[in-house]
Amino acid sequence: MPSPIAHSVSGYILGKILPWEYTKVSRHEKLYLQLYTIFVAIFADFDFIPQLLTGEKFHRGLTHSIFFSFIFSSIVAFFISNRWNKSYKQIFIFTFIIYCSHLSLDFFTAGGKGMQLFLPFTNSFFKSPIPIFPPVKHSSGLWELSHIITLSFELIYSALLVLGLSYWQRFKTHHKTRL
Ligand SMILES: [Zn+2]
Repeated sequence: MPSPIAHSVSGYILGKILPWEYTKVSRHEKLYLQLYTIFVAIFADFDFIPQLLTGEKFHRGLTHSIFFSFIFSSIVAFFISNRWNKSYKQIFIFTFIIYCSHLSLDFFTAGGKGMQLFLPFTNSFFKSPIPIFPPVKHSSGLWELSHIITLSFELIYSALLVLGLSYWQRFKTHHKTRL
């Protein structure tokens, strides 16, 4: 799986480009929203906590399934749609897309068995035959040399996304002023 860097940046960028824009909320809400997109984008990897506590294999299991993404988005949307004065449908779609960005990134990562994408319907693991992201070798410890390659790749990926966003925003502003 990519590290939290790639997941967080992807969530943040999606939050910026999805139709429900930050510009429609106050400055205070904007910060919450940005933190929210990052939280949703990395949530699936919190499955390392029960794994640490119990020693059982949880990682890339249920929290990495489409079923869980759906349930998670439904519950979260229920609790926060009123609070943020947005429709249930809006929050649900927003959350579901950002959550699924995590599954997409993991799907295109090299190494490992893949994810149990269709739990609880099948225990099979799925991953792309053509990976994009280099794997993070957790078992090799913190100071493994291969982490530099992974980190560099993710920083370049993140920089490209931020650059793309900046072009997109400039294009939109230019287009609006011409209308
Ligand atoms: Zn993951």
